[in-house]
Amino acid sequence: MKCPICNQYSARKDVRTIRRTKQGIEKQCPRCKGWLKGDPKMTKVKNVAILGILLFNVIAVFTVDPSLRNILSSLGLASAFVAILALFRTQMVVAEMPKVMEGQSEDQNPASENQEDNKDA
Ligand SMILES: [Zn+2]
Repeated sequence: MKCPICNQYSARKDVRTIRRTKQGIEKQCPRCKGWLKGDPKMTKVKNVAILGILLFNVIAVFTVDPSLRNILSSLGLASAFVAILALFRTQMVVAEMPKVMEGQSEDQNPASENQEDNKDA
């Protein structure tokens, strides 16, 4: 997956930290420690398509007319394709920015410069 915060790709197996929120599951980027979630629009498309698979197939089971059953089966298959497509095309969006980036300017203190002022007299 590609992280929208640090623009780096990380392997699926490297993403170990996952948390569950009201909006869904969020994943932590192993490189910048920011939190990511799936695009809500694509998640909705995927859910509707999965519902379509179930609905069309269930109706097809109870349909006696063979030609109508064929149409319903095709619609079920089409829904399956949409669901698979949505599953692979879903991009990650920022859920929460990493904490290190927010407080970066405050952490930089010029302590090392002062120590070089030792006088040898
Ligand atoms: Zn990142």
